[in-house]
Amino acid sequence: MEHNNVEQRIQEFIDKIESKNPHEPEFLQAVKEVAYTVIPFIATRKEYDGMKLLERMAEPERTIIFRVPWVDDSGEIQVNRGFRIQMNSAIGPYKGGIRFHPTVNLSVLKFLAFEQTFKNSLTTLPMGGGKGGADFDPQGKSDMEVMRFCQAFMTELCKHIGPETDVPAGDIGVGAREIGYLFGQYKKIRNEFTGVLTGKGIAYGGSLIRPEATGYGVVYFCEQMLKTVGESIKGKTFVVSGFGNVAWGVIKKVTELGGKVVTISGPDGYVYDKDGIDGEKVDYLLQLRSSGNNRAEDYVKKFPTAEFFAGKRPWEVKCDVAIPAATQNELLLEDAKALVANGVMCVTEAANMPSTLDAINYFLENKVLFSPGKASNAGGVATSGLEMTQNSIRLNWTSEEVDARLKEIMIGIHKACRDYGKEEDGYVNYVKGANIAGFVKVAEAMLAQGVV
Ligand code: GLU
Repeated sequence: MEHNNVEQRIQEFIDKIESKNPHEPEFLQAVKEVAYTVIPFIATRKEYDGMKLLERMAEPERTIIFRVPWVDDSGEIQVNRGFRIQMNSAIGPYKGGIRFHPTVNLSVLKFLAFEQTFKNSLTTLPMGGGKGGADFDPQGKSDMEVMRFCQAFMTELCKHIGPETDVPAGDIGVGAREIGYLFGQYKKIRNEFTGVLTGKGIAYGGSLIRPEATGYGVVYFCEQMLKTVGESIKGKTFVVSGFGNVAWGVIKKVTELGGKVVTISGPDGYVYDKDGIDGEKVDYLLQLRSSGNNRAEDYVKKFPTAEFFAGKRPWEVKCDVAIPAATQNELLLEDAKALVANGVMCVTEAANMPSTLDAINYFLENKVLFSPGKASNAGGVATSGLEMTQNSIRLNWTSEEVDARLKEIMIGIHKACRDYGKEEDGYVNYVKGANIAGFVKVAEAMLAQGVV
């Protein structure tokens, strides 16, 4: 009876979110994943019941959509659409990246902002959830075009953000170059030098380790997951997707800890390098990336003993650990089946929502160690939080200090997931653990602050 009641509440909640947000499949997917684990938990807590906490969390506090007009190198006027989703400020200023990619739309940014709220809460740092971006494609644009676009984007965005209000950072398509241009324009219009963005260059308030942080954090988290079954990174074979900033950090750290990464991927297909991607090959990835190229195939031209598989994803390659580090919905049920059939032990998500709901369920049913991105990739935003702290105290910490804090935070997130996600048979359901642990802090703050 009780069980049916909870099932019914989940369904009613999902129906409501669905009817309020039609045509937003990614947002709905992210909310569903949380609802399945958090609503049964809410039902056990008297003080949360009936307070519409999850309903409130699924409605952005504010959504800003704006025109971004700019002039390209040939003198033609271009018009893009800019967004900032200010999702939840219960535990701190809105915080989350900016994505420049042609696939950016309201659904994608709302899913990212929703997940960010839980992720930021997990870091234990005082950061609310937000996300922004534009349907602008930096691929194939000149530096000056990117600069003009960033300036046009910030001309509007600067009215809505600030170091105590909303602190954006990078995401797909927004790296050090874009953050620099965005920061310059904010400073010029607002006439203030503040830590309004993170991921800044070292010369103007950035933090050491921030570029590596997401990837390093993922590997620290993975290390903790493996430890629960008496295993370690050393000697394990890793399959990694993507070859952007996050994949680069993952590969560097896995290699340092004695693991072997055998794949990377791009929109064009994946590369299999049986010898492992290490040493100068990792530096080459950085070079590829900074040249604005997203073709994985170029790696094989440089290192011909590697093989390229056009139009395919790397999940068919046998491995001990899989790390999806590209983008949302890049690992489907059929991929989960292939990984499990090949004996995968651990899947640590590095991208945001890379696995579909049925892929996640397949991993959980098969008792594979599986962590959702909102837990395992939180090291990026956690280090952004550390950048904010350094900006506030007007001091810079050493790499060792930032790295030690990052590691401590990742160990803390792992423990929180374990505390809330451990099942009767000892298996840790990290999805449940991350959702509940992330929810509790935000819920407590919202309860204390009243219906606002
Ligand atoms: N875009 C990153 C994320 O998905 C980093 C956000 C930040 O540093 O604010 O968490």
